[in-house]
Amino acid sequence: MLWPLLFTIFLLVVVALKYLRPRAKGCPQCGAAREGDHPLCIVCGWIYDSPADRDEDYGEHGEVETRP
Ligand SMILES: [Zn+2]
Repeated sequence: MLWPLLFTIFLLVVVALKYLRPRAKGCPQCGAAREGDHPLCIVCGWIYDSPADRDEDYGEHGEVETRP
């Protein structure tokens, strides 16, 4: 039978497409190209992950509106 072989090839093609897809600077959600250094996606509002800023952001959460 030829079907198991065809099915295997089909699976390989699917996996290959999945991994070969260009995942460059585009938005992970909608795929739109990133606009310069914009922190948000201009199309869907996706927040780009920037590891450099993350630590600072979390540090600021400690002091939130401490009014008397
Ligand atoms: Zn987007």
